[in-house]
Amino acid sequence: MTATSGTRAATAGVQQRYVDAVMGTYGAPRLVLSHGQGSYVWDVDGRRYLDLLAGIAVNALGHAHPAVVATLADQAGRLAHVSNFFATEPQITLAERLIGLTGADHGKVFFTNSGAEANEAAFKLTRRTGRRKVVAAQGGFHGRTMGALALTSKPAYREPFEPLPGEVTFVPYGDIAALEAAVDADTAAVLLEPIQGEAGVVVPPDGYLAAARSAADRAGALLWFDEVQTGVGRTGDWFAFQGESVAVLPDIVTLAKGLGAGFPIGACLGLGAAGDLFGPGHHGSTFGGNPLAAAVALTVLDVIETDRLREQAVLVGRRLRAELARLDAVTGVRGRGLLVAADVQPGTAKTVAAAALRGGVIVNDCTPDTLRLAPPLILDDHDVEHAVPVLAAALAADHASLEAS
Ligand SMILES: *Cc1c(COP(=O)(O)O)cnc(C)c1O
Repeated sequence: MTATSGTRAATAGVQQRYVDAVMGTYGAPRLVLSHGQGSYVWDVDGRRYLDLLAGIAVNALGHAHPAVVATLADQAGRLAHVSNFFATEPQITLAERLIGLTGADHGKVFFTNSGAEANEAAFKLTRRTGRRKVVAAQGGFHGRTMGALALTSKPAYREPFEPLPGEVTFVPYGDIAALEAAVDADTAAVLLEPIQGEAGVVVPPDGYLAAARSAADRAGALLWFDEVQTGVGRTGDWFAFQGESVAVLPDIVTLAKGLGAGFPIGACLGLGAAGDLFGPGHHGSTFGGNPLAAAVALTVLDVIETDRLREQAVLVGRRLRAELARLDAVTGVRGRGLLVAADVQPGTAKTVAAAALRGGVIVNDCTPDTLRLAPPLILDDHDVEHAVPVLAAALAADHASLEAS
């Protein structure tokens, strides 16, 4: 740490302004970043970092992707925003594309600006069944608005804001019997992340999502997958629910993070009859699905398709997991595609992530025992080769050798 003192003047100056001007919900910032290119970002003192977190599974195309930059400039120069009294071509095309990618033969989309808002929309949609109960999973994360928080089990997030909207039952994630026992004739919806992100990239046993589909069907309930983190190619499929050996099609899919690859946009997809549960006046969002956001999301889908980034995510993700598994201090590796977790010695994830950062690699300690990696889908083998020795040194507490270039 002495190696870093005196050389981070710009960072230190901006950090204090942040603390004085920005509400303290996120704690003190670890870096102050100025620009990015591909899978790398630079801080205000000129240090370069390999970004294996990508704004938490957001920057799917990395930073400053030329196609995104061109689309933003082009669409902003044409039509950035209109009220939802009017339609625009990009919004309609994006809705059609998203429904098509799910494999459903029909459905409808409500556009939002974030994941929590997509879940709010979906939560309201489930009330249109005439039932109120939602069965959700322990460890699940669905966002921080009052409704999304009501669906999120973590006591530390919930308790300061209770009472929250009610009738949410939490069951252990991955436990088919517990899920079946909780879903009944009062259940409006079953809500699951196909892979739990914030909980530490928890992959359920194969067959769990299919069992959830059956349980929902038996009770006449909707099946809702929160793919805010797992969707849009991150796991190698367009949606993580498509990665199961038994085909499962939900009624509701919520999306955000990777959809705009950095431009804020979210979506609530109602598949089949679920697409018709909202009528005029039931919901709204001023910015939701404006032509600027929709055009960017269409470009993101195009680039993922034409550059075969889902295929790349599978191959590079496999390589990344294999390399991580070889490291002594890593006790377990999980994930699919480029949503990856590495278990470390209990309680050390925070110090390991901090050491990796000093070495110029951004990873996230999503739990005290687990590192999460959700890099851009453009990550290549070269980047993996760059990252592994830094992570190895961070894990070995060989911190003296770590200093971002
Ligand atoms: C991040 C996340 C959310 C919340 O998204 P915001 O854009 O932060 O509101 C919801 N669900 C899941 C699964 C997430 O990972």
